[in-house]
Order: sequence, then C-alpha cells, then structure tokens
Amino acid sequence: MPRKYAIAGGTVAVRMRNGIDPASVGDCPGTRPFENLAAAFLDRDGVINWNDRHVNSPDDFELLPGAAAAIRRLNAAGVPVIVVTNQGAVAFEYVTAKTVDDVLDKMDRVLAAEGAYVDAVYAAYAHPSGSLRYLAIESPYRKPETGMLTQAHDDLGVDVRASTMVGDATTDILAGRRAGCRTILVQTGLAGTDGKVDVKPDHVVDDLNAAVDIILGASNA
Ligand SMILES: [Mg+2]
Repeated sequence: MPRKYAIAGGTVAVRMRNGIDPASVGDCPGTRPFENLAAAFLDRDGVINWNDRHVNSPDDFELLPGAAAAIRRLNAAGVPVIVVTNQGAVAFEYVTAKTVDDVLDKMDRVLAAEGAYVDAVYAAYAHPSGSLRYLAIESPYRKPETGMLTQAHDDLGVDVRASTMVGDATTDILAGRRAGCRTILVQTGLAGTDGKVDVKPDHVVDDLNAAVDIILGASNA
C-alpha cells in the first residue's frame, strides 16, 4: 500500500493508519479525525518494542510483552493512539526515512497480528549533531520539544492538554509536560535512566499495560 506523508517543517513526517493523508482531512474546521479527543501519545522504542539495541531495520523491531494487548485496549476504548518517535538516526544517515517507514510497516504488521493498531505516527528526523546538513538543527519537533504533539492537534484535532504522554525517557516526559499532557514513565526500555533532562512524571508504572490502566481510569497508581 502506498504511504502518504504530510511533511511539516521538513523535519517531521506523519503517517496515518491506512495511508490517509491528514492534510486531506484537516482543511475544514470540525472535520479533523480526532477533533477534541484525548489521545494516548506513545513513544515507540522502549515502550512498544524492545530497545536493547538500535532499531535500524525491521528485523530489530520486536514487541515488548503485553504491548499489543495494551494498544488493543486503547483501540477498543476509542482512544486515538499516536506514536511520537525521535528518529535522529536519519539526521546521522544511519538509516533513511524509507527504513524508518519499513520499521513502522513491521510495527503495523505485528500489532495487526494481535488485533491492535496505531492511528498515526509522527517521526522527528532532525538531530542537532547530525551529518545531514538540513537535518542538523534544533528541531521544534524533536522531543523534549513539543512539535509532534502540537502538530497532532493541528492535523488531527487532538486535545493535547487532555491527552497522556507515555515514555521511557525523561525527554518524553518533558515533551508531554511542556505540552500540558498527563505524563507516565514506564519502567521498560530506558526506564527514565537516560538522565537527559530533570523532570518528574505524573506517574511511574511498570509497563504500557499499566499506563493504559491509568489512561482508561482503571487505576490511579
Ligand atoms: Mg524510548
């Protein structure tokens, strides 16, 4: 299936479930797919899949235990699931945007095999130290900046301040905090040990499934 992208600012790409171009649905107020809905913003590596190695090819992408079931619960509850992933490896030319897309195809496939899906993915390609000149910038999309979340509002209508950001890195939590989201740190992946920024999440839980308990109101942990 061909993929359609809306490129915002040249350093971030969005892909929608079934290849829908959000630019084609966002032109008229009130027609955006998730108008005023609270979303679950999920970091990818370390939240959905293992990140004990760099995820630089589809073969590197392997779901964490329970992640598909957790996303399936969000799907069933009608909560938009929006992945927001820093992919600065593109700026370093370790991978191409095509490879990032191939990895996301793998994510879609393995989630679908367990009856789950992601509604949209934002991928930020820039990194200030990158080797590709036009991506070697301080991008407003790269977490801990908030660009991917606010773009989800602009494209899709998501109510960002009513949404939840789930991540395994402090930069995920700071992005969510800055955007006004509830923030949940999971103990999978980096489990907050990256130490890049000093920020306290609203909740710390074992894994994505426990984060979904909070999002769906089944737990106040
Ligand atoms: Mg991560």
